[in-house]
Amino acid sequence: MIKAKKSLGQNFLHDQNIINKIITIKEIEKKNILEIGPGTGNLTAKILKKKPKKFLVIEKDNELANILRKKFNNKIQIINGDILKIEENSLSDETLTVYGNLPYNISTEILSKWILNINSKKIWFNCLILMFQKEVADRIISNFNTNNYGRLTVLANWRLNIKKICDIKPTSFYPKPKVESSLLFFEPKENFFYLKNPKNLEKITRVFFMHRRKMIKKPFNELFNNNFELLSKLGINLNLRPQNLDFETYYQLTKEYENLRG
Ligand code: SAM
Repeated sequence: MIKAKKSLGQNFLHDQNIINKIITIKEIEKKNILEIGPGTGNLTAKILKKKPKKFLVIEKDNELANILRKKFNNKIQIINGDILKIEENSLSDETLTVYGNLPYNISTEILSKWILNINSKKIWFNCLILMFQKEVADRIISNFNTNNYGRLTVLANWRLNIKKICDIKPTSFYPKPKVESSLLFFEPKENFFYLKNPKNLEKITRVFFMHRRKMIKKPFNELFNNNFELLSKLGINLNLRPQNLDFETYYQLTKEYENLRG
């Protein structure tokens, strides 16, 4: 058995029930598939059996990439690279269905990068089926007025509809992680709040959520220079905490920020 590398977040999924569940979430036959971090290829093999049209995988570990080449020969296209350095918009002309039991240490970085790089018109994926550490998943799917609500929640829900498929126990993986996992399903929203550049939403949420327990007076004034007109227009009370502002208010604030900057 291959020795798992902790630095690459390697926890291989071996629970056949979960793997079988993952491949029934979305149709695979004749679709274009991308798998992030296929590892030893447990899920890869099951996806392949369902006869996708095109099947691309991205694996950073050289040793695993070689194993995958031997195992799957030319039936899949293997990119031996780092997903964080790959320009996802240029991976395929047709939209991709994306699977990934993501390495825990970079899972939020991957998701944030994908959201921030979404092209205004065409999105490179039709859905994402991704495994996260449960507490990260709980943050992604949380709602305002809760402690889990934060930057990642506001960012992820801007362009994506998100639902939890299931929680997964550590015993489903080898080596066994210390934490539980959750499988999430993401689909692009048909109607979303138009922003000139999502990086502005990242900036607004970064400043607002810098001090979660403090009132939003300071971040608001830092970004909007005591703009009281805007406060009454958006109905914002500066005595609230960052988690008390709903999604829409953050998107409105970003739009106003973009308009003020021209
Ligand atoms: N999908 C496999 C499974 O479920 O058994 C492995 C999942 S394991 C949690 C994460 C995988 O992502 C590993 O194979 C690891 O080598 C790979 N990986 C880690 N960092 C990566 C990166 N930056 N880019 C691409 N793959 C990466």
